[in-house]
Amino acid sequence: MNPGKRNAKQLVLWMAAFLLLMILFQNLKAPQFEVEIPYSSFKQKLRAGEISEVTMRPDLIRGEFRKAPEKGADGTVGTKRFRVFPLPDPDLVKDMDASNLSVYKGEQDKTWVTAVLINLGWVVLFFLLWWVFVIRQVQMGGKQAMSFGRSKAKLHRNDKKKRITFKDVAGVDEAKEELEEIIAFLKDPAKFTRLGGRIPKGVLLFGPPGTGKTLLAKAVAGEADVPFFSASGSEFVEMFVGVGASRVRDLFEQAKKAAPAVIFIDELDAVGRSRFAGIGGGHDEREQTLNQILIELDGFEGTSGVILIAATNRPDVLDPALLRPGRFDRHVTVSPPDRTGRAEILKVHSAGVKLGEAVDLEVIARRTPGFVGADLANLVNEAALLAARRDREDVSMAELEEAIDRVMAGPSRKSRGISEKEKKVIAYHESGHTLIAKLLPGTDRVHKVSIIPRGPALGYTLQLPLEDKYLTTKTDIMNRLCVLLGGRVAEELVFGEITTGATDDLNKATAFVRRMIMEFGMNEKLGTVAYKKESGQVFLGKDIVEGQGYSDSTAELIDSEVKRILADTYAKVLGILEKNRELLEAIATRLIEKEVIEGEELDSILQGATA
Ligand code: ADP
Ligand code: MG
Ligand code: ZN
Repeated sequence: MNPGKRNAKQLVLWMAAFLLLMILFQNLKAPQFEVEIPYSSFKQKLRAGEISEVTMRPDLIRGEFRKAPEKGADGTVGTKRFRVFPLPDPDLVKDMDASNLSVYKGEQDKTWVTAVLINLGWVVLFFLLWWVFVIRQVQMGGKQAMSFGRSKAKLHRNDKKKRITFKDVAGVDEAKEELEEIIAFLKDPAKFTRLGGRIPKGVLLFGPPGTGKTLLAKAVAGEADVPFFSASGSEFVEMFVGVGASRVRDLFEQAKKAAPAVIFIDELDAVGRSRFAGIGGGHDEREQTLNQILIELDGFEGTSGVILIAATNRPDVLDPALLRPGRFDRHVTVSPPDRTGRAEILKVHSAGVKLGEAVDLEVIARRTPGFVGADLANLVNEAALLAARRDREDVSMAELEEAIDRVMAGPSRKSRGISEKEKKVIAYHESGHTLIAKLLPGTDRVHKVSIIPRGPALGYTLQLPLEDKYLTTKTDIMNRLCVLLGGRVAEELVFGEITTGATDDLNKATAFVRRMIMEFGMNEKLGTVAYKKESGQVFLGKDIVEGQGYSDSTAELIDSEVKRILADTYAKVLGILEKNRELLEAIATRLIEKEVIEGEELDSILQGATA
C-alpha cells in the first residue's frame, strides 16, 4: 500500500472511532452503570430510607442506593446507581424531606446537548465521506494522496518494438511534412541552435476528432526516438485552484530532465480557452493553468530540447496569447483524409489482418467519404470480428462492407458519415459554386474544391482573392452573389429537388443583398440612401430605443427588392448552368471520384469555357 492510501485509511479510522465514542457516551453509558427501577419501588425505598442521594431532572430522576442491593433482587443487577422515570407526584419533596437523604438536588435538562452532539456527528460523517471521495479522486492517477500538484502525465518510453512512427500514420502527408523539421530538431538539437536559430517551442495540431492528432504527436517522438510525455488539458482543470498550474510545472520539469523530449497536451482548449470569453467572468483555475503553460513556454531556452505539441479541435476558442510568436507558433492542420488517404489508412490498419484475395481496399475507401482515421481503424476491426464470428479463414469484402454500416451507426463514431447519394448532391452543389466562380469575371480564383466535410460544412469551395481590394463594384458584388447561389441552383437543375445544404449560402446571399441596398446605396428604387445607421457598438436594446430609422413602407420596399434581386440572380445562374451542363457534370464527376480538386486541374477541365 502506498503512503497516501495509508493516510486516508488512518483518517477514516480515527473519524469512525470518534463517532462511535460519541454514540457510546450518549446512549450506552447510562444503561451500563445504572439500573432502571419502577417509580413504586423508588418511593418504597425512599420511605424505607435506603436511598442516599437523588438528582432530579424534569424527564429523569437519578440517584444512589445507600448500599448496593443484592444481585438479582428486584430485577436489579447489583449496582448502586439507579434511574427512574418521574410521575406527577406533588408529595415527592415532602417524602424526600422525611427520608434521611444526604443530598437531593435539581439539574438542568441536558437533552439538547445530546441533540447537538448527534447532529454534529452527522456533520462529521458528511465531511468524512467528502474527504474520502476527494482523496479517491486524486488517487485515481496512482499518485500520492497529498501531492495534488504532481503531474499525472504518462510517460511513454519508446521500446523499440512498439514504437509508433510515421509509418503508422497515413493520409496526412501535409501534416507529416510540416513535422519533419521538429523531428530533425529533436534528433540533434545542438545542430540547430549552433547558428543561433530560434527553434519552434510549440506546435499546435488542429483538426476534428479521430483524424490522428494524438497519433501524429506520438509518431514525432517515435521518429526522433525521444521520450513522450502526454497529458490532457482537462486533467489540469480539476478542483483546486493552483493544482493545474503546479501540475504543468511538474510536467515540464520532468520533460526537461529527460530532454530531448516531446510533451503532448491533448484537448488544449480545455485550459486554453480565451480568457475573456463567456459570461460570468473567468475561471481562476483554468486561467492559472493557462498562465503557467505560457510561463513555461516563455521560459524554454533554445537548448532545452523540449518541444510542446498540443492538439485541439476548437482552434477558434483558443486564447490569442497562446498563438503569439514564440509560443505555439507552428500550426499544423490535420484534416480528414481524402479517398486515397483513406485507402492508405485502411492499408495501415489491415496490415495485421488476414484479408481475402478479392478484397479491394480502394473500393472500401470510395464508399467511406467523411470517415476519419479512427473510423477506419474501427471499420477494419469490426470486419475482423465479423469474420471471426462467421468462422471464416479470412476477412472478405462482405465483412468490410457490413462493417461500414456498423461504424456509421456505431455509438463511438465521432464524425459524420456521408451516404453515396448525399455525396453526389454535395458534389454537384460545390461544382455549381465552382463553375459560376470560374465563368463570371470579378470573382476570386477557385483554389480548391472539396467534398470532404470540414467543420459544419459538408463541402467547400475555397476561393482566394487574386489581389487585395478595397473597393468593390456593383458588378463584382452581383457576380459573387451568383457564386453563392450556384450551389443551390445546381442541386435543383440536376436533381429537381433542393436540400438544406444551401442554408449558409442563402444566409450570406441575403445579407449581401441587404447591404447592397441599405449600406452601399446600390438600388435604383431605394436610391442612394444609407438606411443602416452607423453604430460603433451595438448594445442590447439600442435598436428598440432608436427605432429602425426608416418608415414601414420603406421596410416593405427593401424586403421586396431583396426578394426580387435574389430571384433575378437565381434565374441568371440557372441559365448559365443550363448552358454549361456538360462542364458541371465534368467537375462533379471528377469530384465524386477524387473528392478534392485543386486549382490547376480545375483549369484544365474548364479550359476555354465562357459564360
Ligand atoms: P485524434 O487525437 O485526432 O482525436 P487519434 O490520434 O486519437 O485521433 O486517433 C485515434 C485512432 O484512430 C488512432 O489510434 C489510430 O488507430 C486511428 N487513426 C486516426 N488517424 C489515423 C491516421 N491518419 N492513420 C492511421 N490511423 C489513424
Ligand atoms: Mg486525441
Ligand atoms: Zn454552398
